[in-house]
Amino acid sequence: MIIKEERNFDICIVGAGMVGLSLAYQLCKRNITKKIIIIEKEIDIGLHTSGRNSGVLHSGIYYKPNSLKAKVCVSGAKRLKEWIEERKLPINKCGKLIIPNKEELDSQLDVLLKRGLANGAKVEILKESDIRKIQPEVNCITGRGIWSPNTCVVDPIKVLKTIEEELKVFGVQVIKNISDFDFKKNTSSISLSNGEKINYATLINCSGLHADEIAKKFDAGKDYILLPFKGMYWELKRTCRINIKTNVYPVPDLNVPFLGVHFTPNAKSEYVYIGPTATPAWGRENYEGFNNIDFKLSLNNLKIMSNQYLQNRGGFRKYVHEQAFLSNPFNLINAAKELVPQITLNNIQKSKKVGIRAQLFNIEKKELINDFIYEKKENSIHILNAISPAFTSSFSLADYIIDNVMNT
Ligand SMILES: Cc1cc2nc3c(=O)[nH]c(=O)nc-3n(C[C@H](O)[C@H](O)[C@H](O)COP(=O)(O)OP(=O)(O)OC[C@H]3O[C@@H](n4cnc5c(N)ncnc54)[C@H](O)[C@@H]3O)c2cc1C
Repeated sequence: MIIKEERNFDICIVGAGMVGLSLAYQLCKRNITKKIIIIEKEIDIGLHTSGRNSGVLHSGIYYKPNSLKAKVCVSGAKRLKEWIEERKLPINKCGKLIIPNKEELDSQLDVLLKRGLANGAKVEILKESDIRKIQPEVNCITGRGIWSPNTCVVDPIKVLKTIEEELKVFGVQVIKNISDFDFKKNTSSISLSNGEKINYATLINCSGLHADEIAKKFDAGKDYILLPFKGMYWELKRTCRINIKTNVYPVPDLNVPFLGVHFTPNAKSEYVYIGPTATPAWGRENYEGFNNIDFKLSLNNLKIMSNQYLQNRGGFRKYVHEQAFLSNPFNLINAAKELVPQITLNNIQKSKKVGIRAQLFNIEKKELINDFIYEKKENSIHILNAISPAFTSSFSLADYIIDNVMNT
């Protein structure tokens, strides 16, 4: 690359998703530095996971106490909710029900209650009559369910755009359409595809679906490979008489990092989404059909998934049987019926919303990674496996990285 200009920054962030923007935001808010540049490969922000998710601010129920998710989700949700309310952005404070869709999952409610309380989430077990007061149509097969009053739904794109606006006021540079950059080992600079050279004290890789790839440029993330899982959504048709007022989730399989097909009203209660699926994706950005297929990654991933299935590692067989084929509407509607029995195929239509999870697989341990992870390599930090609830947790995840990783 021919260098046309050279600039110096304290922090260079790769990726203007929720994680990268929140890191820059907290660095500015805490007066640590405003000499920050964020480089983004797309022409706009929100074109990948942060702009394609369910917009749910999770309340912190699912995560093993002491995991990084548990440490940052509850406070992250509270802070982001307050921040959104202060700016009068759309927010639907509709709460969430978690319902066992099989008899044998009833005991998991106690596990979730215990985890939620240990993590500091507001959570309670309700009996059927109380559940029906919130959402009468729910299938309450065991007569119990979890109620999380603090779960809410926001508009992710509006949140991203507002953070970007406020970062500009702080003087942070967000440069877009940077398709690639070069990094030479043992240097503190990257050369961008637009001909600029950026010198930095610290580089933070927040590139979501590409984070493992970029980490490897810096000799980090060697144990991991991306296993992308696609989340497709359907919507309730406007003509559907079923009035879903709250989030309705199944009791998840806690062995895999997917929550199962659920019902989610949007931030303004205009739509109800059903999904997302957790279908294998055939590329990092394979949102539709044959677009952006990565044959090499997919072949390798098929091999990994077949081995996980044959040896049933981490309950992978259960995932395949229950979740891998939910892109078929007949399977999806059956999963949805387990929560709301009245729903039929005629009530739903395919949504344009599709997201892909930046799910990492540990090649050595042969397991899907559940928690957020990070690696520090000289003066670069790599945020890896920023899967759900990284959107919810982003303000507190940023503070955690600043306090525990940057300053060590
Ligand atoms: C279907 C689905 C539903 C979800 N629902 C929820 C939810 O309800 N609540 C919740 O909390 N979380 C949810 N999540 C998870 C959440 O969306 C993600 O954890 C979060 O958005 C990750 O943010 P990010 O900044 O790491 O990634 P991204 O938003 O993907 O941002 C990464 C950015 O890096 C850029 N980039 C990549 N490579 C380069 C490069 N070489 N140079 C420059 N820029 C680059 C990309 O273009 C992108 O803009 C969901 C995820 C999915 C897939």
